[in-house]
Amino acid sequence: MIVLESRNVSKEGLIKNISLKINKGEFVSIMGPSGSGKSTLLYILSGIESFDEGEVIIAGKDLSRIRKNELSDIRRKHIGFVFQNPELIPEVNVISNILLPALSNKREIKQRGEELLAKLGLAGYQNRSVNNLSGGEKQRVAIARALINMPDIILADEPTGALNQTASKETMELFLSLKEMGNTILMVTHDAKVASYSDRILYLVDGSIAGEFNNSNRDENEVREFLASFR
Ligand code: ATP
Ligand code: MG
Repeated sequence: MIVLESRNVSKEGLIKNISLKINKGEFVSIMGPSGSGKSTLLYILSGIESFDEGEVIIAGKDLSRIRKNELSDIRRKHIGFVFQNPELIPEVNVISNILLPALSNKREIKQRGEELLAKLGLAGYQNRSVNNLSGGEKQRVAIARALINMPDIILADEPTGALNQTASKETMELFLSLKEMGNTILMVTHDAKVASYSDRILYLVDGSIAGEFNNSNRDENEVREFLASFR
């Protein structure tokens, strides 16, 4: 089943005719030089940024055919977005941060938040302040927040960009376990080691997909060879 699809999407010369399909349960990376349009593409696919031409279809809904006021609802329902910096609200505790985008205020959703914390290795953290968490812990809170509405896909822009090696590895192991639980992930990264956790890598140059690599062996050296072929 296809969860996210783009057909000939273009925007202002930054994104040129990009077509891609992400299947349910897939973990896909987008790589490419700085300025090649990776973040722009991710923002377009998530409905955060508009586009000029083409179609983006997420969970069966065509983003260009829905009204603006429906868009934020669709985003909250179907997409979990993880930024490079966790972007937590410092004034409120861990669980309140996680429940921020929640689509309901029922007791079950709080329970889901607590279950997510436990799954992410942060059991018992709900009432802690987010200010004195480590970088990796903050990113895990941001990931729990992205998962609160059980989205069809997680979009992550350099989720390990602000993390040290240990926290990066933890975050990728977490993404792998989310994949094993049936989640779908599309992630932008600069890091070959981080990308080697994904199933497939798309390489962007100048707003176009210049190459694609099937990473079924999960071998960092093969990823590095693929990347070297663009230099
Ligand atoms: P990095 O690896 O450095 O994060 P990137 O591949 O994510 O780079 P983008 O941030 O998508 O690149 O930017 C692609 C190009 O679009 C860059 O040349 C950037 O300067 C330009 N750009 C980004 N946002 C806008 C905007 N809102 N309006 C005009 N140009 C933009
Ligand atoms: Mg970027």
